[in-house]
Amino acid sequence: MATPQSRSCEAPERGKADRAGEGKAASNASRDARFAPVEMPDLTFTPEVAEATEHLYERVSRVIPRIEWPAFAPYIKAINDLKRQRNAVILAHNYMTPEIFHCVGDFRGDSLQLAREAARTDADVIVQAGVHFMAETSKLLNPDKTVLIPDLEAGCSLAASITAEDVRALREAYPGVPVVTYVNTSAEVKAECDICCTSSNAVKVVESLGAKRVIFVPDEYLAKYVAGQTDVEIIAWKGRCEVHERFTADELRAYRETDPAMRIIAHPECSPDVLREADYTGSTSGMIKWVKEHKPEKVLLVTECSMSDNVAAETPGVEFVRPCNLCPYMKLITLPAILDSLVYMKHEILIPEDVAARARRAVERMINLTN
Ligand code: SF4
Repeated sequence: MATPQSRSCEAPERGKADRAGEGKAASNASRDARFAPVEMPDLTFTPEVAEATEHLYERVSRVIPRIEWPAFAPYIKAINDLKRQRNAVILAHNYMTPEIFHCVGDFRGDSLQLAREAARTDADVIVQAGVHFMAETSKLLNPDKTVLIPDLEAGCSLAASITAEDVRALREAYPGVPVVTYVNTSAEVKAECDICCTSSNAVKVVESLGAKRVIFVPDEYLAKYVAGQTDVEIIAWKGRCEVHERFTADELRAYRETDPAMRIIAHPECSPDVLREADYTGSTSGMIKWVKEHKPEKVLLVTECSMSDNVAAETPGVEFVRPCNLCPYMKLITLPAILDSLVYMKHEILIPEDVAARARRAVERMINLTN
């Protein structure tokens, strides 16, 4: 039976709950207002737009001719205004074009850097300027935030090369062998794997399992690169990045013949033949760090073409040779698509909770290991 004392204790608790409920309703109402569709902003290049964006043009003036700026500036201003209105941040992957990467991106880097940065913000909305698996990773690490991808067709040939069912079949074929997944997979695939990795930590992740054999999905070339750096036996899936597999060793040798002093640095999603021609191999962040530290006179980045533009914008004095292989999926993310995403709040990434919980475990296991 409740004593008067306990009742008097309950009353303030109910009051607190009521106040909390009212607070939540108010915050939901303000969230709903902030998330309501808005009118498409005027996209005329006016003197006001020119003035508001001039400081951003300076960031990209080495790679975007002044004459092209009026086509970009109205979108950039509209997107940056809407970000404030929606309390949104944009995560810009290294493969985004410079006007996105340098002028609307709040966080810039590889997929893991981006997701981790976003987890530290108090933004309500994350717009992923990257491809679908990256948006899913952001959602896994930010389950309470609204994560948007500007184009649902922004996929990845590596992520498309394997399904959750394929991973289950691999486990049956190799009972007890742990499965490492490169971050370039869907949440459903991650949910079937033991741990996730990126190209910068793949060797460390593989060795952390303490196993003699490890199944590595989905990138065959990254798996070969890892196998060359460790005594652990690697069982590889046969997925490929359709952008990096286009580079050939002959092509790189031909480039080097034009200038033997040229430095060639490559991403480990390239074939072993290509990596043998490289002066340095590393993840996108590793490649950027290498260029900034070594400041070579001339460099060829063997990776998606926009990354050269983004690094060139910040590294005067370094000449970039651009073989220019573009990722067709990354290139679906444009300023108009990002603006649409913020105007209409589309396309929201939703992951079924049972899948998300297991996939998050694989991602967090990697983060805990590499922190
Ligand atoms: S560059 Fe390759 S790995 Fe990256 S998103 Fe495009 S297809 Fe996928």
